[in-house]
Amino acid sequence: MIDDALFDGYARAIDANSDLLRAAVSSLESSLAGVSDRQLPQVLGALYASLVVEYGGYAAAIACEFYERQRAASGAKGSYAPTMEDGADQALLYYDAREAASSSVGLQSAIGKLQGTAVQRAMEQADATIIGNASRDPAHPLFALVPNAGACGFCTMLGSNGFVYHSRAKANASRHPNCRCRPVVDFDTENPALAGYDPDAMHGAYSDARAAVEDDARAEWDAMSEEERAKWKVDGKGAYDHYLRNRIAAEMSARQRTS
Ligand SMILES: [Zn+2]
Repeated sequence: MIDDALFDGYARAIDANSDLLRAAVSSLESSLAGVSDRQLPQVLGALYASLVVEYGGYAAAIACEFYERQRAASGAKGSYAPTMEDGADQALLYYDAREAASSSVGLQSAIGKLQGTAVQRAMEQADATIIGNASRDPAHPLFALVPNAGACGFCTMLGSNGFVYHSRAKANASRHPNCRCRPVVDFDTENPALAGYDPDAMHGAYSDARAAVEDDARAEWDAMSEEERAKWKVDGKGAYDHYLRNRIAAEMSARQRTS
């Protein structure tokens, strides 16, 4: 069981870090006045990367402290000193900037996209820190991604995975831009729990949404051209699975809005 007060303090700290990162990315707009269109992706990439490195480091430190405190509070056996994990490769951060610039009309829109990916990358560093420590710690705690109240369907889908061992955690922690789900560990592997987090209910919502869209999604997929289908290809996942997951997440978001 994760202590409520411990989790609340952690959630506030890591959310505040995301807010500060969004504000810092937003303020890049004024630094970029007068930069030519040709130079923009490189300059924007460098500024964006330095912010993600800085705030990703803070996210990892906050996650590391949570891990340490949660370990101490749970009375886990043996000693283990958690460490912080590195963040995304520079190449990925420059890729984010190029993508945002090339898919946007105007700097403001590009910056808006980078606010979302910056939070995603920083939170991924927090995930890696918690999952990495969970894999090395002889106490082998369980990992979960806990969505905030009112999270979108995609985040609810991540949350429905519940508490898992590190071997499955990495595959489950595939965030989208602006995802603020909090990575947690519980050393109570017999009965892992956090007040207000109900992965079974989330899984029920997922199953209902899946049943509602599955037939349509298959028919839509069959009607698509090869070119349209290719857009859904991502590393490590089948294109149709990716498409179906997006359809399910959209259905879950729509149901949450009307419930
Ligand atoms: Zn999320």
